Amino acid sequence: MSLQDGLSKRVWKPGLIGAGRRALDLVLPPTALDGGPALSPGLHAEAWGRIAFIDDPVCDGCGSPFEFAPGFGERCAGCMGRPRAFERTRAACLYDDASRELILQLKHADRTDLSGLFAKWLSRSARELIEEADAIAPVPLHRLRLLRRRYNQAAEIARPLARMAELEYLPDALVRRRATASQGGRSAGGRRRNVQGAFVADRRKVEGKRILLIDDVLTTGATADACARALKAAGAACVTLAVVAKVKETAPVTI
Ligand SMILES: [Zn+2]
Repeated sequence: MSLQDGLSKRVWKPGLIGAGRRALDLVLPPTALDGGPALSPGLHAEAWGRIAFIDDPVCDGCGSPFEFAPGFGERCAGCMGRPRAFERTRAACLYDDASRELILQLKHADRTDLSGLFAKWLSRSARELIEEADAIAPVPLHRLRLLRRRYNQAAEIARPLARMAELEYLPDALVRRRATASQGGRSAGGRRRNVQGAFVADRRKVEGKRILLIDDVLTTGATADACARALKAAGAACVTLAVVAKVKETAPVTI
């Protein structure tokens, strides 16, 4: 019986409340935001079943799922050929139609209630990185975009995650000093050039610390790489990355 089968059978048991509910909530991604009976704030079991959660074994560098377990700390060919400034990555799920729908709701439709759900997903998928981190920082928006959108979706996820993980939260450790055009539709090289030098980090906040960087979607890693470079230039001891969803291919996609 798979993990998902196990949950869907157990979700509907009327006796599963209280301590049992809380215990299950710790080990499984929480369910129910779309109207169905809820185990905890989250997704209806049917919607939850459509999310392609990523489980071990994964590439230590980019968080992509491996078909088999090659050994601790192994990296995929893409990561070995292209070292990035962030050392390790974990993603909660694959970026596909189901996860895109939820992420766009957080990003553009004021569904900030989803941020707690995503934070719970990350507390599970990135638990190894959380154990090694001193502080959590979101990928920042440029202030003009922040004014337009009113909130930074990465910060909305990072804040409850820091609270859950009992780690220092650094909402303004990084600043996007240049308004960059959208990364959508660009090649990997184009994405890199687009965000090169766009970020600066505050040395007083990050020096000597192991920073866990948070974003909603990982595509080529160009934005996270530029952030990690800025953090390291300001003295961060190491930078790792946790995202809600990871794009499977590195082909240009529009987000
Ligand atoms: Zn990889």
